[in-house]
Amino acid sequence: MGMRNIIIVDLDHTISDARWRDHMLMGPGRTDWTAYHRAAVNDLPVEAVIKAVDALHAAGMRTVALTGRTQDHEASTIAWLVQHLVPIDLLLMRPADDHRQATIVKEELLKYALGEDWPAQVLLAFEDNEHVAELFAIKGITVLRPVLPHHIQQDQPNDEEDQKEARTGSSQ
Ligand SMILES: [Mg+2]
Repeated sequence: MGMRNIIIVDLDHTISDARWRDHMLMGPGRTDWTAYHRAAVNDLPVEAVIKAVDALHAAGMRTVALTGRTQDHEASTIAWLVQHLVPIDLLLMRPADDHRQATIVKEELLKYALGEDWPAQVLLAFEDNEHVAELFAIKGITVLRPVLPHHIQQDQPNDEEDQKEARTGSSQ
C-alpha cells in the first residue's frame, strides 16, 4: 500500500498477436469464443512489449497478467507464457461462464486479487482495448496501448482444424 509496484499486462493484442484469428469472431451466427481462445496457442509473441515487461519485472515490479480469456484455457495460456519467456507473477482470467463486458470483469478480478485499493498499487498497464484503458486511466493509472506493426500473421496450419474441433466439440 502506498507503493505502486504492480504492472498489469493484457494478453490478446498486447503481448500475444491475435490478429490472425480475429476473423473467427466476425462470422455470421454465434461467436465462437472457444475456438478463438483455443487458437491462441498459435499466436506469435509481441517481442517488443514482452521485453518491456521483462525489464520492468527485472527492476522489481510485480507483473499481473489480466485477460478476458476464460479459465478453461489456463493451462495452454500458462504454457504459452512460459514458452515465450513472459515473466508473470499472477495470472487473472475470466470465469468460464462469465460473459460480461471486459471492463466489468477485469475490474472485478483486480478487486478480488488485490483488494479494494488495487488502483493505488498499480504503476502501469499494458492494454490495447480502449474501454479497459479508459477504466484504468479513470482510476489514475497510466496506460501504454501497443500499436502493432502492420504485418499480419497468416492463418496458422492448425486454424482450420481448431475450428472444426470446436464445432464438433472434440477436445485435443
Ligand atoms: Mg487485449
